[in-house]
Amino acid sequence: MEIKQPLIYDLDFETLESQLKALGQPGFRAKQIWTALYQTFRVSPDEITTLPKDFREKLNQSYSFKALDPVKTIESKDGRTIKTLYKLNDGNYIEAVLMYYDERRTLCISSQSGCGIGCSFCATGQMGFRRNLSSGEIVAQVLYFARMLDGMGDHVTNVVVMGMGEPFQNYDNVITAINRLNDPRAFGLGARRFTISTVGLVPKIIQFADEGYQYNLAISLHTVDDTLRSKLIPINKKYPVDELISACRYYVHKTSRRITFEYALIQGVNDSVEDALALAKKISGMICHVNLIPLNPTKKFGEQATSADQAQVFCDTLEAHNISCTVRLRRGIEIQAGCGQLATEGESN
Ligand code: SAH
Ligand code: SF4
Repeated sequence: MEIKQPLIYDLDFETLESQLKALGQPGFRAKQIWTALYQTFRVSPDEITTLPKDFREKLNQSYSFKALDPVKTIESKDGRTIKTLYKLNDGNYIEAVLMYYDERRTLCISSQSGCGIGCSFCATGQMGFRRNLSSGEIVAQVLYFARMLDGMGDHVTNVVVMGMGEPFQNYDNVITAINRLNDPRAFGLGARRFTISTVGLVPKIIQFADEGYQYNLAISLHTVDDTLRSKLIPINKKYPVDELISACRYYVHKTSRRITFEYALIQGVNDSVEDALALAKKISGMICHVNLIPLNPTKKFGEQATSADQAQVFCDTLEAHNISCTVRLRRGIEIQAGCGQLATEGESN
């Protein structure tokens, strides 16, 4: 059954405030509701006991409070990676992943159900595009885990938009969602705790730079060879490497913020010393950091991950050319929660 009420998490503060006033409510109701939803993680009006009972019923009739139905949760053996599959109200699926790193509680969230970019190495890409998420559906993924952590006296410290989908193909909703999560009246997580990862949509990188957010930006580069990059990432034909790198330089210049490059190391494909040298040359002089992530193999992409030793050689080569880099741990592999392993059950891998 289609849900007709607006999703409460899709509404900005002013809209909610004016709608509640139209319902004859006092001015402080919107603040009361936002505090309950975004700071104490109430999930329905019935849980907001500070509200008058008849108004709780009115709220129930006027808005939907359920964006996501968690249908399955799996935990890695060490308990440090937890993945949840959610059914959306229209029957589509998305996933989000919580990762414990020392003191950090990093949440990897989805921006779309599926993805239309079709990168050959990515499980989400292999499943195709379903639809954009609304801002409320993006916010709700964070609130779900925030509530869970809150129950254990813990909290979300970082949010990365690196789950399913290409965030810059759903730019407005992603930015609205992060602004909401950053807003002190709502979730109030510091701007620098957010990272958006894009495959490299040049006009959106420029827009993002011009709008001057303090959120971090990561670019999925993977190679600086146009022929290879177009094979791995079809949209490279539209936004080739030099244009992409120019947009990145513009971003760094405009915002004075460090940019991150994501580089999945694929054995024998993009992991040689020559590849590292070509990369170092392309990004030299830019305030940046390179994250090297050994490929998470997926069935439809025949290639293998680079060995730990070769990954270190690659990293050392970059460092020798003054490029800061880290070889990232592969997390959540056994529960298919690694980068690019997010895909609806049974649809891929
Ligand atoms: N669409 C965005 C964000 C989601 S993908 C983007 O492409 O940046 C998140 C990250 O996982 C990207 O850096 C992507 O290139 C990487 N990734 C996808 N599949 C992968 C795989 N099989 N192994 C390693 N990294 C992968
Ligand atoms: Fe989409 Fe990113 Fe996967 Fe490419 S890597 S298919 S852009 S989710």
